[in-house]
Amino acid sequence: MPEQIAIPEAARRVKADFPEFPSNEIVQEILEFVRDTGEPWLWRGHTHTPIPEGSVPKYVWEFDVPEFGSKRQAIAPCPHCQPNAPKYKHGVIAYFPDEHVIRLMGADCFRTTNPEAHEVAKRELERFQRSVRNQRYLQERLPLLPDLIHAAEAAFPQAEALDAVQANLVREVQGLMLQTLQQALRSGELRVRSKGKEATFSREGVAGTRDVEVLERFGAVDGVKLLMELRSPIQPKLRAVTEKLRELNSRYVDDPKLKEMHDGEKASLVRGFQQASRRLTDIYASIKDRQRFIAPANLATLARWSEQEAPEVVVFIERVGQNFRVGKTRVSSRTIEIPNAARRPLLSLPAMP
Ligand SMILES: [Zn+2]
Repeated sequence: MPEQIAIPEAARRVKADFPEFPSNEIVQEILEFVRDTGEPWLWRGHTHTPIPEGSVPKYVWEFDVPEFGSKRQAIAPCPHCQPNAPKYKHGVIAYFPDEHVIRLMGADCFRTTNPEAHEVAKRELERFQRSVRNQRYLQERLPLLPDLIHAAEAAFPQAEALDAVQANLVREVQGLMLQTLQQALRSGELRVRSKGKEATFSREGVAGTRDVEVLERFGAVDGVKLLMELRSPIQPKLRAVTEKLRELNSRYVDDPKLKEMHDGEKASLVRGFQQASRRLTDIYASIKDRQRFIAPANLATLARWSEQEAPEVVVFIERVGQNFRVGKTRVSSRTIEIPNAARRPLLSLPAMP
């Protein structure tokens, strides 16, 4: 026999005090009470009686009864199906518009009584919760739009300069050379060929060795996307995302306006914001990646590697002062200018709450 809970008379009294759908204040009061006491059946407005035939709930919000370390699955008695013993942990604030009462009960208890009405109430609650979540999200994030727009605009010089470096580099490193370089850099890790020995066994079972070529790790090169994503200049993407952010900003005026917005519009605004801020983050990452490629130490690695691998590898790349030289050989190499803007650090993107 499960543990019995003594229910006070006050809890059983029908409190038809709620002619209107419970306000946000009532909901907050209930959630706070349950969180603090762990005894939803003692909340001042709760009616601890079974649901009369024909009365159908609207679900207002969900809650969990705190365990306070007891690790039980059932904590609170349910007015509807088990009024004197622990029945549920996951509960729902159920409002009964016909009776003007509120019952704090097990979240799925009404399903057995009336599956269709339970499903309708549940779907309506989910829709409402989505709308509240979207509302909160937009209230937190939309004020960041001006900062995001500023960050996007501020990245144009870097994007332009790096796109130019990329285009010049590709022009110098054409055809086979580019392929060789791309292949060598695909993993981001350079290798050099050296001679080694491999054990062999003849058909007669005599052990021997033979010369083989082995690949050894030489070093890592950062930001190889500059050479890999040739058809993917940054500027057009940055322009598109800047426009998108500006458009979102023009749709958002202030909070009261946000509250008037219907759910579909809110949901589309949330999606638009998520997409645009994710894209801007990606663009920032691309720019930083390309900036790592043109860093002196990085190009020095590449230059040492190309020297060591010559003459098989037909590429020469070297950092000279602020710029770098690229070509088939040192003699035939040409200078690729790295504009100062390419190196300029980016702003920090606003932190998302
Ligand atoms: Zn129940």
